[in-house]
Amino acid sequence: MKTSIIEKAKVVIDKNRWQAENQAINNKIKAFEDEKFKTLYQDYMAKMIEASKNNEVLSTDVKNLKEEYLKRLKVLGINSIEPDYTCKKCNDSGFVNGNYCSCLIKEVNNILKKESGFDKFESFDEVNFQVFNNAEYMKKLYQKMQKWCHSNFDKNIIYIAGDTGVGKTHLIKCMANELINLNHVVFFTSSFSMHQDFVKSYSTKDLDEKNALIDKYLNCEFLFIDDLGTELRQYNITINYLYQVINERKIKKLPTIITSNLNLDEIKDYYDERISSRIIDKSSSICVYINGEDIRLKNIKK
Ligand SMILES: [Zn+2]
Repeated sequence: MKTSIIEKAKVVIDKNRWQAENQAINNKIKAFEDEKFKTLYQDYMAKMIEASKNNEVLSTDVKNLKEEYLKRLKVLGINSIEPDYTCKKCNDSGFVNGNYCSCLIKEVNNILKKESGFDKFESFDEVNFQVFNNAEYMKKLYQKMQKWCHSNFDKNIIYIAGDTGVGKTHLIKCMANELINLNHVVFFTSSFSMHQDFVKSYSTKDLDEKNALIDKYLNCEFLFIDDLGTELRQYNITINYLYQVINERKIKKLPTIITSNLNLDEIKDYYDERISSRIIDKSSSICVYINGEDIRLKNIKK
């Protein structure tokens, strides 16, 4: 998991802790304005300190004092003078016995989802295969892709081809969700907007800007490219940049997931041999073709 993401999640958890502790301090200040509460509380604290000094078991006397000051708090309309932490497991510290607390992991997940570029996620557990005319094939394909999400990613290019509306984007939304739940960092782009960044990067003279524009495509942990082939192709720009992205990610063993209307023969014609050979390379790619009917109007969820 990336340290920067954990740090961002920690900011949220720390904020919860500060808020709970600040609220407790404010409540205490307010409660102390009441003389009756103040006396009860101070008596209680003095007896507590004495008991702990002498290693004594707390007497009913002390317990009664606590009950009384709690009753008085209620009368004053104050909830508690102890911090009311959001997570009772770690008291909003983010850690339990040196391990990440589930609240921190959950926050990491929220951030990964927000930063992924996906507008919406789907779950492998909620797919209704009945909407597909090729249900058995789709079931196997979904299972294969779910298994891949838990693999060591030796196969680092996933190419999902098929006509519009056969369920390609739904499938990759399930994959992104699964990967994020495993705390991976995913980035989603449409081929169209990636191409716009290629053009900007090509056009600018500022070297830092040139690199910054394509950095996320080259270096993000998992890159999802939706609808490859629908961009406004400009031969010298599209092909060189796309080759750079696919080739560098392959060398760095960073997974790239692509959906496209183009089948494997068409990629070669539409782009070039270098790009198609990287994508088709059987040793490190999984290429599938979905031969189905348009299911966009059918409810794909259970
Ligand atoms: Zn926690």
